[in-house]
Amino acid sequence: MPGTTRVGSRPPVVDHGPRTGNRVALTFDADMTDGMLKNLRTGRVKSYANLRILDLLEREEVPATFFLTGKWVQRYPDVTRRIADNPRFELANHTYGHAAFTGDCYDLPAQPVSELRGDVAKTFEVIEPYGGRQTRYFRFPGLCHDPAALDALAPLGVTVVDGDVVSGDPFATAWKPLVRAVLDHVRPGSVVIMHVTEANAAMTDEALPHILAGLRERDLVPAPLSEVLAAG
Ligand SMILES: [Zn+2]
Repeated sequence: MPGTTRVGSRPPVVDHGPRTGNRVALTFDADMTDGMLKNLRTGRVKSYANLRILDLLEREEVPATFFLTGKWVQRYPDVTRRIADNPRFELANHTYGHAAFTGDCYDLPAQPVSELRGDVAKTFEVIEPYGGRQTRYFRFPGLCHDPAALDALAPLGVTVVDGDVVSGDPFATAWKPLVRAVLDHVRPGSVVIMHVTEANAAMTDEALPHILAGLRERDLVPAPLSEVLAAG
């Protein structure tokens, strides 16, 4: 399975693939916290699943990789099935409830690092039944990790994936800065970080067509993360 590493050693952390060739990975995080679930329950927020992104990727036959939290999968089983059923989409792990496992990580709720291994293992158990292109890729919420957090993952045989192109889409209020942020930094082998969380990343679907057009102009071709990291 892509991303599998030797159990018992500190997992590798990757930012991008080889800088040769012309492929790039579009990755979409699916965050979900208890606070977000409450927003859905109370009707404060309509959706944290941006179906316009899926519509576009499907229509244009664009490969992508989705870093799913367990709570998002449980809230959106049909959307998860749609992702898993697409042969161009890969599924990866983004913790169960999008907590921080380091001392200081934006304003994310903190969880003890002693709970990290169990949290990530549980998330794989939630994702695995959906099948499709499963991986052992894992991304920390907020990309926050330290040696203790990495060591805690050693029993799981995963690859930790950060990324080298941050779109800045969370809580964006305009789409153009996202397009600029991506196209100014993307290179062969890049791993682009975006979000599929709609209410918390409301401009991503508007930016995406422009990002795809800009990639085409640069002769860069989106590919599943496993293929970008393996390319040589
Ligand atoms: Zn996240």
